[in-house]
Amino acid sequence: NGGNASEPPMPSKTSSGEKAGGGSASLGGKIKIGFSMDTLQEERWQKDRDLFRAAAEALGAEVEVMEANGDDAKQISQVETLISQGVDILVIVPHNAEAIAAIVKKAHSAGIKVLAYDRLIKNADIDLYVSFDNEKVGELQAKAITSLVPVGKFVYIGGADTDNNAHLFKKGVFNVLQPLIDRGDITVVYDQWTKDWVPANALANMEAALEANDNRIDAVVAANDGTAGGVIQALSAQGLAGRIPVAGQDAELAAAQRIVEGTQTMTVYKPIKALAEKAAELAVKLAKGESPGAVRKVNNGKIEVPSVLLSPIAVDKHNIAETIIADGFHSRADVYKNV
Ligand code: BGC
Repeated sequence: NGGNASEPPMPSKTSSGEKAGGGSASLGGKIKIGFSMDTLQEERWQKDRDLFRAAAEALGAEVEVMEANGDDAKQISQVETLISQGVDILVIVPHNAEAIAAIVKKAHSAGIKVLAYDRLIKNADIDLYVSFDNEKVGELQAKAITSLVPVGKFVYIGGADTDNNAHLFKKGVFNVLQPLIDRGDITVVYDQWTKDWVPANALANMEAALEANDNRIDAVVAANDGTAGGVIQALSAQGLAGRIPVAGQDAELAAAQRIVEGTQTMTVYKPIKALAEKAAELAVKLAKGESPGAVRKVNNGKIEVPSVLLSPIAVDKHNIAETIIADGFHSRADVYKNV
């Protein structure tokens, strides 16, 4: 017997052929979740993948993961494959907030609900959005940096223009900066997106910012730790690393190490385990045809999407021990490896 003894018996299919999802959920079988990921480029996404799978399996579901390597056409065809495999629910981290919308209709006509994971899908009838408060991420970054540099020349190194989160992060940053800009205290001397979040693109942008300003820059907010890494490399080449405050996001190990070394000022920690567990729990509910009970609403250009937004946490050298180390996100030994 190669079967799984703990699995409930499969009742035979009803003659009505009615189904709550695309696959076996309505038949009492194991719920199958299709998890379509944009990328594994940043360290966090491997945690997302592994923690989401673990959480879903603990709820008795199974997960099929596909990763599109930053390619829209590939992501769409992978989601089509998941639909044709008869998954009960789709959980999607879109590469492009708009391009992926086309697939939502297809999923719905196959009776499959769609949950946007971490990144919103725009202009589509998606069923649920589970993420962090991404505007708050930008606010935390800008508050931390302006408390150190209340007056001066700022650089903003944004995320990928195609990612809705990048727009929310930027909005949050400017919520804090704008009053200081209006007062004449702060000038933003350089502000660019980073194509596909690639650190090498952020490095090139930071080099351009330094050159255009004769190295006279007082602070940098980078949209995530990958881009902050590119920024710090550019600063380092000019002997400026550690002398200009830099903010990032994700609490990547490399960023945590830079914080204790003094070349990066802060990061924003988003507990991925909480996100993965919440998303898995609600994906299973949706697959069973139950209400996710999400009270918040986020407008995606088409509808008010029921949403769950978790809280991000600002981390600098003063609270690194009681946040990411205490949570086991990284070990103390790893964080302090180079100091
Ligand atoms: C995520 C960030 C991540 C970035 C690049 C964003 O949508 O929220 O955590 O660093 O994508 O993958």
